[in-house]
Amino acid sequence: MSKKFFSVINPNTNIAICQLDYMGHEEASQAINAAEREFSSWKSLPPQARADIIETWYNLLKQHRQELAEIVSKESGKPVKEALGEVDYANSFVKYYSQEILRLFGDSSPHYRKDQWFMNIAEPIGVVGAITPWNFPAAMITKKIAPALAAGCPVVLKPSEETPLTAIKIHELALEAGVPREIFGIIYGDAKEIGRALVESPKVKMISFTGSVGVGKYLMEKSASTVKKLVLELGGNAPCVVMKDADLNLAAERIAVGKFRNAGQACTSPNRIFVHETILEKFIESLINEISDNKYEIGPLINQAAKDKTDKIVEESISNGAKILFRCKVPKNQKSKTYFAPLILGNLNDDMRIIKEEVFSPIFSILSFKDNEELIKRANNTEYGLAAYLFSADLKSTLKIANSINFGVIGINETMVGNDQTIHGGFNNSGLGREGGKPGLMEYYENKFIIF
Ligand code: NAP
Repeated sequence: MSKKFFSVINPNTNIAICQLDYMGHEEASQAINAAEREFSSWKSLPPQARADIIETWYNLLKQHRQELAEIVSKESGKPVKEALGEVDYANSFVKYYSQEILRLFGDSSPHYRKDQWFMNIAEPIGVVGAITPWNFPAAMITKKIAPALAAGCPVVLKPSEETPLTAIKIHELALEAGVPREIFGIIYGDAKEIGRALVESPKVKMISFTGSVGVGKYLMEKSASTVKKLVLELGGNAPCVVMKDADLNLAAERIAVGKFRNAGQACTSPNRIFVHETILEKFIESLINEISDNKYEIGPLINQAAKDKTDKIVEESISNGAKILFRCKVPKNQKSKTYFAPLILGNLNDDMRIIKEEVFSPIFSILSFKDNEELIKRANNTEYGLAAYLFSADLKSTLKIANSINFGVIGINETMVGNDQTIHGGFNNSGLGREGGKPGLMEYYENKFIIF
């Protein structure tokens, strides 16, 4: 008998919060059919009318900021203070796209004859399947849904089974703001079957996916039969470089902020920390000072599987020679079974699994380097290409390195790199296309050339 319900678990208590319907192919197909039926009426609304609805949605999201943050915290485990930051970040995309849609202009090209015109126009692409992960249950949704709706596209959203409650609240507020139910559908439950309905349907013109490389590649393969457009925001293995002239206190502070974001469960998390060999000891001292008093409040890992995976990779690294340089204490009020106390690991090398793979946990993995040429090769020695960080006082030489490494988002003396106005996306296996800013809106269009 197929499953009828699934439980949403609070990682802080490891107890189920509620049960939800376990939806599948049939419900997803119904949502796709409804979205396609209503596409022409949504796209023919004047952009100002869509902008007004999206602005109302933004105002409602803002009014429900605290409630949303509490839902995010309950189902993802991140502290409410951190969840409030995520909700503000999520809401900023809704505000931005309610405005950006009013600044969309087409263009005309030089023509060959006096009586001839060439016009290039952008039209909404059609029904979009949006599939999102659990690590940012609010922001990963709004950065897809807001530009899609603004552009005139209906969306069928499939949030993660781990964190559907934030998605349900965001959806409810969108409907309250005036987005028609058919234009914004939400389906959760059986990921494989919902995914199959989205990728196989010729009515779905685009898949916007954020998640693992494996699922991203699977969706890409399955989308070939209907030649769908894909925007893929996949995993990362960010190099983070501390040059010998870096401000070590600043570097330690920004690296800690970046690493502790969502307890290390972020695609942009500084993963491989390359420190110039002449300042290695001093930097480790600064990092220990920065994190030793437990001033950074972090939540548990998302589930037992994530905790087991982290424990295993640490054990494996230690048996291969890695050394624990420092470990934070477990806070007294922390009772979750999936909490992982942050640690600094040294004596690592580039061939270890902890350096090669995306590590989704609060582990600071320290490596040393001698010169920039070697550093560039080692930083690029990964299948991923999402975020990278460089700490140095010399902007000119840092920009030279930034130009030589294959990553889509580069922070210089900064690890907080996400915002509504600028692009986000990766090279190589980290994905295709971009989210954020105007390019993030243009992904939801098909271009048309008209000659007359
Ligand atoms: P995941 O396992 O790939 O899941 C992502 C989403 O895909 C979830 O909604 C999941 O559903 C769904 N899914 C799983 N199998 C599917 C299938 N066969 N067909 C259709 N959908 C399917 O990734 P995750 O563990 O949730 O997220 C962590 C990954 O996301 C990391 O690699 C991280 O780096 C990446 N990420 C990237 C970015 C970025 O901007 N580049 C941002 C955030 C996260 P269920 O959860 O219900 O199974």
